[in-house]
Amino acid sequence: MTPIRISRLHFPVRALGPGARVGIWLQGCSIRCPGCISLDTWSTSRGETSVEAVVEAIVPWLATADGFTISGGEPFDQPDALKSLLTWVRAVHGGDILVYSGHPVEVLPLQEFEGLFDALISDPLVLAARQTLPLRGSDNQRLHIATELGRLRFGDMAGPAALANTLDVMFDDATGDVFLAGIPQRGDLARLQKLLELGGHKAGITEDRQQYS
Ligand code: SF4
Repeated sequence: MTPIRISRLHFPVRALGPGARVGIWLQGCSIRCPGCISLDTWSTSRGETSVEAVVEAIVPWLATADGFTISGGEPFDQPDALKSLLTWVRAVHGGDILVYSGHPVEVLPLQEFEGLFDALISDPLVLAARQTLPLRGSDNQRLHIATELGRLRFGDMAGPAALANTLDVMFDDATGDVFLAGIPQRGDLARLQKLLELGGHKAGITEDRQQYS
């Protein structure tokens, strides 16, 4: 069994790449960008399972999936698990694979992942940068096309595009948590929290609020 820490799995995700996608969020992030909207994914002491269990959970989605988005957390903080997961996805499905990393691409062990993904979005979130590009929280983040399939699916996402402002809303029946997948615009989560509170609801968000202090 290959251990892996997972934050969540979801299908279909439509806001993080073209088509109906299997979303896999790895748990744990050592980068800790100021302003991160996913503070809940930073801890390394939760979400422990195995790659085999993840595979079992996503198999029912494969027949109608167009692609896969692997995010976090920081996926490359778990290189062995990431490689094992990507190898399995590649072997069983012809859809595209998009991987996120908060590290600059120059420090990633890309030779070890040769052929295992079609596109990569690298670099940390930088609040001082603009936010105009699809699939990215800040415009310093770079889109790298790794394969011909990646060029076909992501080649038109190098510049500003309408896809940037879509979000998927998901509900966890067990906890009552609401999860938004996608890239919200700056301050959207704080605005949503305020609106919910004005409506008499208790609302917490997973955004690093240091940028507001
Ligand atoms: S934005 Fe991504 S890389 Fe940066 S702290 Fe959040 S999860 Fe980690």
